[in-house]
Amino acid sequence: MGSDPLQGILDQIAAEARENPERGGVADYIPELACIDPDQFAIAIARPGQRTLTAGDADVPFSIQSVSKLFMLALALGKLGDRLWSRVGREPSGHSFDSMLLLELEKGRPRNPFINAGAIVTADAVLDGSTPREALGALLRFVRAAAGDDAIHINDRVAASETATGHRNFALAHYLRSHGNLRNPPELTLGTYFHQCAIEMSCTQLANAGRFLIGGAGAPRLVSARRIRRINALMMTCGHYDGSGDYAYRVGLPGKSGVGGGILSIVPGVASVAVWSPGLNRYGNSKLGTEAMETLATRTGWSVFGPGA
Ligand code: GLN
Repeated sequence: MGSDPLQGILDQIAAEARENPERGGVADYIPELACIDPDQFAIAIARPGQRTLTAGDADVPFSIQSVSKLFMLALALGKLGDRLWSRVGREPSGHSFDSMLLLELEKGRPRNPFINAGAIVTADAVLDGSTPREALGALLRFVRAAAGDDAIHINDRVAASETATGHRNFALAHYLRSHGNLRNPPELTLGTYFHQCAIEMSCTQLANAGRFLIGGAGAPRLVSARRIRRINALMMTCGHYDGSGDYAYRVGLPGKSGVGGGILSIVPGVASVAVWSPGLNRYGNSKLGTEAMETLATRTGWSVFGPGA
């Protein structure tokens, strides 16, 4: 593995995670995710021009779920630019990822693109004028180009499982439609949304896919520097739902989580970090993943708020 001190830090974090009995609970509201072994853990760091470092189960594919929302957001901004913000806001919601509460008060304009309601609007914007197959094809092309890996695919069983049980998302979509903030039939938009959530990636692939958000020399250029800053800002303020403040406080890096237990965090100008452990905390974010990111940020001094390991 060579002499990179980061490798030692990753090995230590993975060893500590393996020993930790407090692993949180897997997302059981999607039946296909309910049977995932919670004893898995992986972490990977990708840096421009350098070999991706990994520890733990870094080649095991998992369901990226809501981490997909940031790739779809990048596509939607590429297609609509700032016009997207007439349909979805940029403020943290302070509520759970699947909450309906604010949607009624705020007349069908979701708070941000990372809660489910906002991600459904974002998927709808990308879908507009094409078929779900074309929209998902564009998304997969983007993710594969970002990761430099054509093997990345959608797990149709996970998508079918969520389609059969995703009653809250159907409720959100129909409510959005009643306010005229869904252009396509709810079944088509949700078909797109459930399949984007069912993209599978390993930690290694996810860390590599996140490199386009690092910015700076040597990082892949899929979006402009200005857009990178803005997506990172949204990840910091909204990427962990009502746990976003806690994540910013403990980790100090932009991050996007998913109920599959994955988290993608960006160290601007330096690295893209993916971590995966299926057990979730009370916000629906990976419990050990958050703890691992906190340890990594502490041991490396990585934080957008200043050094201070
Ligand atoms: N597909 C999941 C849902 O819509 C994504 C939620 C998440 O990862 N937080 O419920």
